[in-house]
Amino acid sequence: MANVFIISAPSGSGKSTLLNRVRKQVPNLEFSISYTTRPPRGTEQNGREYFFVRRPEFEYMRDQGEFLEHANVFGDYYGTARRFLEKAEREGRDLLLDIDVQGAAQVKDKLPRAVSIFILPPDRAELERRLRERGQDSEEVIERRLREATREIENYAKYDYILVNDRLPDSIAALEAILLTERQKHAGKNDRELSARAESCRLERVRERLEPILQSFQKRLLMAGNRAGESHEAD
Ligand code: ADP
Ligand code: 5GP
Repeated sequence: MANVFIISAPSGSGKSTLLNRVRKQVPNLEFSISYTTRPPRGTEQNGREYFFVRRPEFEYMRDQGEFLEHANVFGDYYGTARRFLEKAEREGRDLLLDIDVQGAAQVKDKLPRAVSIFILPPDRAELERRLRERGQDSEEVIERRLREATREIENYAKYDYILVNDRLPDSIAALEAILLTERQKHAGKNDRELSARAESCRLERVRERLEPILQSFQKRLLMAGNRAGESHEAD
């Protein structure tokens, strides 16, 4: 039976960078290409990053039960086609899903064996820096992504593993260790060094590291709340 790995992260955390590297290093991984109603960005190509479809087509597929999960993210539909799981099963490969927190919850409900991984940036300022450095988004979109990140990050505790993407080589090694350790578990094997590395991404092990990260996001929320309160008082 195929292992199913779910990866979620606030935009700009470095998820694509990590996944691209790990996909080259870990064999036998099938990467699910999602369907979306959002238009392509930059150099994105239909059938490579996503299958870009119009709403009626998406709704038709949804009504036919073709999706393993689907969700509305930032006002557009996104969905994982069941056929990717079937293909992975048929070919004896593992499946990697890059989906948001809503989709992750749906997949966990349907496939409790799925392993979920949440990727976090080292703090809010670094997330903002990475979004700007990527140079893909307007100022308005960056602001929206930062707001969304604060909301998404609140879901970290629902995931099996939490990976703080600080130094890229460490993160690549940690993600690889998680995938390989989970694979070994199913095969009844255990490489101690690998599993120790994977275990270092469990919630109880990263709790202390998480505190300042969460604070860096929440502080902004509190400050924004206070500012709203002040202007209200001044009215
Ligand atoms: P996501 O897929 O999560 O939206 P990207 O992979 O596009 O994020 O990464 C956002 C930006 O951050 C890119 O410019 C990328 O090169 C950079 N980046 C990714 N990981 C790291 C890291 N560990 N340290 C510094 N920069 C990083
Ligand atoms: P983007 O439009 O920036 O590529 O992705 C926006 C968000 O949608 C990301 O959090 C990404 O993980 C999520 N996403 C991409 N594909 C799917 C999918 O098939 N299902 C769900 N639920 N989320 C998806």
